[in-house]
Amino acid sequence: MEYVKVKQQLLREQRTWLVTGVAGFIGSNLAEELLKLNQKVISLDNFSTGHRYNLEHIKKSVTPEQWENFTFVEGDISHYDTCKAITKDVDVVLHQAALGSVPRSIDDPVVSNNSNVTGFLNMLSAAKENGVKRFVYASSSSVYGDSQELPKVEARTGNLLSPYAVTKYVNELYAGVFQKCYGMEPIGLRYFNVFGKRQDPNGAYAAVIPKWIGQLLNGEDVYINGDGETSRDFTFIDNVVQANILAGMTQNEKAFGQAFNTAVGGRETLNNLYNAIITGLKTHLSDFEMREPVYRDFRAGDIRHSNANIDKLKELLRYEPTHTLEDGLKESIAWYINDIKGKN
Ligand code: NAD
Repeated sequence: MEYVKVKQQLLREQRTWLVTGVAGFIGSNLAEELLKLNQKVISLDNFSTGHRYNLEHIKKSVTPEQWENFTFVEGDISHYDTCKAITKDVDVVLHQAALGSVPRSIDDPVVSNNSNVTGFLNMLSAAKENGVKRFVYASSSSVYGDSQELPKVEARTGNLLSPYAVTKYVNELYAGVFQKCYGMEPIGLRYFNVFGKRQDPNGAYAAVIPKWIGQLLNGEDVYINGDGETSRDFTFIDNVVQANILAGMTQNEKAFGQAFNTAVGGRETLNNLYNAIITGLKTHLSDFEMREPVYRDFRAGDIRHSNANIDKLKELLRYEPTHTLEDGLKESIAWYINDIKGKN
């Protein structure tokens, strides 16, 4: 069913969704949209990279009645009992909790494994024990590893380049096996460089778009790793929210046990991205001063080019991205100016 109709159906029929990683970027956006669709949202986070103020942002974005449908539990998915308790009476799981970032996993593979593999298996097993079949989870474009093929097609991955990529690949293997052994309905979404409101601009492992916007707004130097010709399929958060809701609601059995590229199907270099952000900031801030970026070494574990073929998601889940990189940047820059300048 197409997205507009799925949303109409949800407004007529309330379901209970479990969103893990709700204090983070993607989880908080999923919870907000589901609450706006009058759904019940049970949620979990351990605040390892997420923030309490993101929950406050959600509260401010919905009506008091919608906020009453929100339940939050502070807990860690590396504890099985927590996962068992949280998956009770749930219709659909949207599992986002994990430690993101390739460099973080290279610095500390054991810690990433605890959340991303042990925690993932705990969540999947707990959902099975509680009879929750639909388990939508966050995979990653990092599973394509050193594959040179462009655009990336789901069936062909390369040699993995980081512990993070291993964790996400293991998620897909477990999900496939849980479908075969236990009749679960797992659906993996291989996100490609997601960006948008509430993505953390701070910290050593921040993603490029919020980090650069934050640094430029604070008058700091911006670093480009490598020559700036590295390219990515930057994906605005609304497209990712759509993919999750479609995956949560689909009746198409061909989607179960599968992983899907979740992107726009575009590709932009870091140099062009930098210029687009500068242009966006100038449109909003008349006194904004252009800064030249500082180039430094390539980063270990990074793939050179990334661009998704999104036919599978379009065909099996009726996904249609609503926002290009340019559309998403406009919304994000406006949001960060408000948020970051508001705090200064
Ligand atoms: P995020 O760091 O903003 O959110 C992740 C949330 O999970 C945080 O709130 C964190 O506190 C929570 N968490 C981590 N470990 C936990 C644990 N053990 N128990 C409970 N909560 C825990 O990151 P995000 O960008 O929102 O990413 C969400 C998911 O999408 C992750 O699985 C990530 O690997 C995946 N992903 C993201 C991108 C992207 O571009 N943002 C790309 C590919 C995949």
